[in-house]
Amino acid sequence: MQSIALNDTHLSSIRTHGENTYPEECCGLLLGTIANNIKTLVEVCPTKNDWSAQTEDNRPEKTGLTKRRRYAMSATDMLKGMKDARDRNLEIIGIYHSHPDCPAVPSECDRTLAWPQYSYIIVSVQKGRSEDLRSWSLDTEGNFQAEEILRVD
Ligand SMILES: [Zn+2]
Repeated sequence: MQSIALNDTHLSSIRTHGENTYPEECCGLLLGTIANNIKTLVEVCPTKNDWSAQTEDNRPEKTGLTKRRRYAMSATDMLKGMKDARDRNLEIIGIYHSHPDCPAVPSECDRTLAWPQYSYIIVSVQKGRSEDLRSWSLDTEGNFQAEEILRVD
């Protein structure tokens, strides 16, 4: 089982972001370090949910998909995150997002878009209040497995 170490400040940053963007999904980058298979979170970097339904195939009236059910990170935010991480000798260790009124379990779409080395923290926000929070990463078969969340000071 993979593990991710984080502290209470990280948790509350993610929870607050999810509550503030409710009923839309929030998203952000997780910067930190990786050693001996344990990821250590150093900084939570909120980004904008850049999901857009501009293309014909993504039109909400066709798919029912809006920012309430999807998130996307802009290339600009991603590049800025990479630069911030490099400047501080950290790396991007994962991505967090919220599931408004849905369980903290990855969707099929989350799985198809996931990168193998990343941790995916999902917080469930029920009626505007953050509740269950879990971390996931892909196994060698490409399926999400729960990660152990190690609380540190
Ligand atoms: Zn999701």
